[in-house]
Amino acid sequence: MKKIRLGKTGLMVTELGFGGIPIMQLETNDAAEMVRYCFDRGVTFFDTANMYMDSEGKIGQALEGVRDQVIIATKSTERSKERAAGHIANSLKQLRTDYIDLFQFHNLSEESDLETVLAPGGAMEAAMEAKGKGHIRHIGFSAHNKDTALKVVQTGLFETIQFPFNFVETQALEALYPAALEKDMGIIAMKPLGGGMLERADLCFKFLQQHPQVIPIPGVSNKEEFDQIMALYETPQPLTDQDRQDMERIREQLGDSFCRRCGYCLPCPQGVMIREAQMFPAIMKRMTPGQTVAFLKSVIATVDECIECGECEEKCPYNLPIVEMIRRHAEGFRELEASLG
Ligand code: SF4
Ligand code: SF4
Repeated sequence: MKKIRLGKTGLMVTELGFGGIPIMQLETNDAAEMVRYCFDRGVTFFDTANMYMDSEGKIGQALEGVRDQVIIATKSTERSKERAAGHIANSLKQLRTDYIDLFQFHNLSEESDLETVLAPGGAMEAAMEAKGKGHIRHIGFSAHNKDTALKVVQTGLFETIQFPFNFVETQALEALYPAALEKDMGIIAMKPLGGGMLERADLCFKFLQQHPQVIPIPGVSNKEEFDQIMALYETPQPLTDQDRQDMERIREQLGDSFCRRCGYCLPCPQGVMIREAQMFPAIMKRMTPGQTVAFLKSVIATVDECIECGECEEKCPYNLPIVEMIRRHAEGFRELEASLG
């Protein structure tokens, strides 16, 4: 498979990477087999995160024997030096390795996240110390909010950016990706399939292939899904007029029901975790019912605090009917919870 230079990290990564979310729902050995299957078919770039439950451990098990042939990226949501150092140590253990190729600060989506990470005693100190010891080779970040992400890019302190990118979520093309490229950062596309919400893989990857400097890391949980994507890389197909029309139609259909997780609606004066509650349909597709309930229980509880003040809907750039959506998700969540008995 073709390899692409991941910006100034100098790492050469396969043009198609592997996202570590969906393997959470697989049994350990099945997950490791899935990871290994992708490696055997040519993928050598694997992305996971400390918060993806046992994903790191499964990837570690699968790749232990071929560590020198793969690039492993992980992430931590911790913002303090002490806690981030704990996460790094745990990632090394779970991944069964003595170095992480790319360590990313997970979801720097609010300016306060960036400030805390960079402040004395912040997580950047832990990352720099780990880098000094050779436990981390490169440092990047992920985010969902383009304005905050642009500020993070402009610090010049990060070597890669991971941001949602698919044919429905294209906002990074305006200013964010050009700024990142100017700083010679590596660009990783999270949610190339819209977090499981876009069903036409052919359209998704034909679109992404128009942007070869952006490395997609689709999450796959079965071989057929992976083979379908892989075929689009083995025999790339041009975007046709029909494809463009189909993409436009899907964009329009999803326009008023697709949360981009940008966080512009926040903060909610009642403390409703809007962005996380909006993730319910995508999480349900990516996790088992039990995992979904465990993951979102405390989030969905905040939806009950909504007083329908409408502040969030005024701020949402996509004019989403947020109140109706989060109430519907809460209802779906409770049905799912009840089905578990
Ligand atoms: S509801 Fe709107 S503003 Fe809030 S995260 Fe989703 S898309 Fe962004
Ligand atoms: S409408 Fe509900 S969720 Fe939105 S800001 Fe008001 S209280 Fe928060």
